[in-house]
Amino acid sequence: MTNIDHSFRPPDSFVELSRTLGDPAEDMVILAEGNTSARAGDDQFWVKASGRSLREISAAGFVLVRFDPLLAALHRTLTDEEVREVLREANDDPASGKVPSVEAFMHAWLLRLPGVHVVGHTHPTALLPLLCLEESETLANSRLFPDEIVCCGQYACWVPYVDPGIELAKAIARSVLAFQEQHGQLPKVLWLQNHGLIALGATPAEVISASRMSVKAARVWQGLLAMGRPIHILPDSLRARIESRPDEHFRQKMLWGDPA
Ligand SMILES: [Zn+2]
Repeated sequence: MTNIDHSFRPPDSFVELSRTLGDPAEDMVILAEGNTSARAGDDQFWVKASGRSLREISAAGFVLVRFDPLLAALHRTLTDEEVREVLREANDDPASGKVPSVEAFMHAWLLRLPGVHVVGHTHPTALLPLLCLEESETLANSRLFPDEIVCCGQYACWVPYVDPGIELAKAIARSVLAFQEQHGQLPKVLWLQNHGLIALGATPAEVISASRMSVKAARVWQGLLAMGRPIHILPDSLRARIESRPDEHFRQKMLWGDPA
């Protein structure tokens, strides 16, 4: 365990992102649902403390944890008690009485991906019906309008349902590596079957954009499915064009800012 510098706090922009995702108007989480994380150097990251509500979270609602014990655990099969022990070991400020969210395992793995500094995980009401459909994987791979591609990428990475916690972290790792192999790039968003959404970003603004645009696209999907009419999906060739357009890169920079 390192010496704790209590003046070391999560960045304001990250705390603000967390509260935005928890805002009832966004309808992405209620109660203590969802969690967020941000890198704090090479060895540590901030993650929501278990049981906290994103809606009113402050800097004190986050725990500083170390990557190494969490990442090492992903190579093992652990009992529930062993999982709690790893979370205790990773906690860099156990005297605070705060316990890291059990989703700290997946946050640790995702925050080590190149270019990912911030992660936001929510359970959007608009997206959950799509995540519970038999064809959710097909929908995750479909795109309806250009801004969905700009903010959420050409495809979402679909993750089959598993127990939240360490098993979910392992499933996410498998799905993201398969996605990277297939598409030659990392996803911006992940769809967790029967569960929720994960948005990855270099900045908090990128995570907000991807989360909000995923909710908007989900509402469009709901409208289309209710109409029961034939649907025009954007073809792959057009998607690649939109993602590579220089004016879209400029817009992305304006929306999301430069990584810290
Ligand atoms: Zn969740």
